[in-house]
Amino acid sequence: MTDRAGRGVARRGGAAAAGRLAGPVGPAVTAQVDTAPEAVAPDILTEIFRRFHEAEPEPKGELHYVNPFTLLVAVVLSAQATDRGVNLATGPLFAVADTPETMLALGEDRVRDFVRTIGLFNTKAKNVVALSRILVDQHGGAVPASLEALQVLPGVGAKTASVVLNIAFGVPRIAVDTHIFRVSNRIPLFIGATTDKVQAGLEAIVPEPYRLHAHHWLILHGRYTCKARKPECPRCRIADLCRYPSKTTA
Ligand code: SF4
Repeated sequence: MTDRAGRGVARRGGAAAAGRLAGPVGPAVTAQVDTAPEAVAPDILTEIFRRFHEAEPEPKGELHYVNPFTLLVAVVLSAQATDRGVNLATGPLFAVADTPETMLALGEDRVRDFVRTIGLFNTKAKNVVALSRILVDQHGGAVPASLEALQVLPGVGAKTASVVLNIAFGVPRIAVDTHIFRVSNRIPLFIGATTDKVQAGLEAIVPEPYRLHAHHWLILHGRYTCKARKPECPRCRIADLCRYPSKTTA
């Protein structure tokens, strides 16, 4: 189904409305999809990103890293973990290993010791060492700037690859996490029942000048303003443009 602008539109009664969303989005998000009206028109979409840009021209993520390799490791470690928790572990880890070669030399047992405060640390330690080995053996110790090469690395899916491409290589991909999924369906920018659909939709409709930073703007907006349980609508910079029917009041 498409709206007047030819964009995909999920209406009530679909999988989302039936509460059947699965995967990386939680049940708290489904209710918002139920009540979302049609997506905003292209001129409103542009104005929304103009305001995000005006407020923060160069948005930054919150994971700490010093080069593309440490960014890749930090993103792999951040699955189902907070950025703050990851940063606490990676500070000491990156102080002793900030290249694939030094990570490989450190070995899985020592890497595990550094990251044991992070959820799923056993698997993540194994993946970090395994991906380091592949980078050394197949990519000359460099992080490849290609979606195909990145997403076959252990622990690196399409979302992680998109984040690394965006931040390290300036590729305008919009990896959709739970925050972006919620925000996109609420305003709505693009309505989709899965994170993959929302990513494809946003990458197709976000105006090119804003596409590179859209990922960070939307994550930060979801994390600090358009929060899952109680969005802070009274102080939201795009409240007059947002169509979410359950906006909060002061
Ligand atoms: S007005 Fe409320 S629901 Fe809409 S984007 Fe802002 S915080 Fe989110």
